[in-house]
Amino acid sequence: MPEFQTSPGMRDILAPESARWRRFVQVFADTVEAAGYEQIIPPLLEDIGVFSRVGEATDVVTKEMYDFVDKGERHVALRPEQTASVCRAFVQHRPTLPWKAWYSGPNFRYEKPQRGRFRQFDQVGIEVLGPTDPAVDVEVIALGWRFFQALGLRQVTLRLNSLGEPSDRSRYTEALRKHFGDHASELADETRATLARNPLRVLDSKRPEDALVLQSAPRIDDFFSEAAADHFARVRAGLDALGVPYTRDERLVRGLDYYRFTTFEYAGGTLDSAQNALGGGGRYDGLVEDLGGPSTPGIGFALGLDRTLLACDDEGVFAAPPTSVDVFVIDTTGGFEATVLTDEFRSAGLSADRAYDNRSMKSQMKAADRSNARVAVIIGSDELASGRAVIRPMNGGEQFTVSRATLLGDVLRVARGSEPTPTPKEIK
Ligand code: AMP
Repeated sequence: MPEFQTSPGMRDILAPESARWRRFVQVFADTVEAAGYEQIIPPLLEDIGVFSRVGEATDVVTKEMYDFVDKGERHVALRPEQTASVCRAFVQHRPTLPWKAWYSGPNFRYEKPQRGRFRQFDQVGIEVLGPTDPAVDVEVIALGWRFFQALGLRQVTLRLNSLGEPSDRSRYTEALRKHFGDHASELADETRATLARNPLRVLDSKRPEDALVLQSAPRIDDFFSEAAADHFARVRAGLDALGVPYTRDERLVRGLDYYRFTTFEYAGGTLDSAQNALGGGGRYDGLVEDLGGPSTPGIGFALGLDRTLLACDDEGVFAAPPTSVDVFVIDTTGGFEATVLTDEFRSAGLSADRAYDNRSMKSQMKAADRSNARVAVIIGSDELASGRAVIRPMNGGEQFTVSRATLLGDVLRVARGSEPTPTPKEIK
């Protein structure tokens, strides 16, 4: 075993998976930029306060943060998520409203690594700051949905809920506290601990012994103010108008106090439930204020790249693209022909690769095969002397010799497949 390996929960992403990751972000960028979102690239490291304000009561912040004191005595943390960074950036730069931003990149959480759960993991996401219009909720939720569709996923499900206004939410929380308190003896021990911390979170419980008490629990709809009920109705009507299917899930609560109105989650249809959460989000308030800015409502989502790619694997879509080049140059003369030709092909817009160390013809042909090149260009001492080159289509077509002067044009034709392979002129 080598002395150094990646730390637990950290990975090297090699080709072709790395190309898949890049395409994933590209499809996301294409989807959201077509809707007016602009990319923000926040730093990986922030003052720890940026995150601790947001999630004081969450595991992500209390237990899982990679934080340390830097050489300038600043207490900093590797970001565990990016919504807080986006809000911090908003306060710092004050872009005009509405501000529609998208991001991608790694986050860090000191979690127990397992399938679909890592300590460094990538997310893509969007945030809209400014409007309270339910049309924004619809746009945000639908963009996540369209992104999954663009990847080819067909079995993603969307769950939707509303937590009402903050005052609705607190009245509801109190009603839950009372209900669960009255039935505390019927709840699991762990659930009672959750109840003491946050009665809303009890709704998340999947423990069978809690099921009955959960069934008779008060329902958020009965606590909605008129404004909250109206907002939620409009979000639902908007999604219906777009044909984005969802199920209402009254138990979908997000842990943070910042959430109000709409909350939603996307799940993979084929993954088992431990890894099926692809991502989610909701409308929040107070985050920008807590970071020192003016009261500004926001809504956004974050999607996990790993879980989404697992869902793609399960549905057999969005496979890693095969790696290939257009041209592979085989040069057995030991000079600079391969260097010059690959440069020429690359400048003409083709991808071109070559072998090194003046290997034998056979070994260079093998390398050409491995590269999945469409065309091999072969320069031996005869070709060098006569100012010619051999073009060998790698799809099994016959090779032929051309003059060095027309080589680029001939290679372009064969590599792009725009014309049938020319009839052999002179077979070497
Ligand atoms: P959260 O920011 O906790 O709401 O997570 C949003 C999504 O990010 C989840 O649904 C997962 O897809 C993904 N995610 C969260 N934590 C991890 C992790 N440790 N490893 C891989 N993906 C994660």
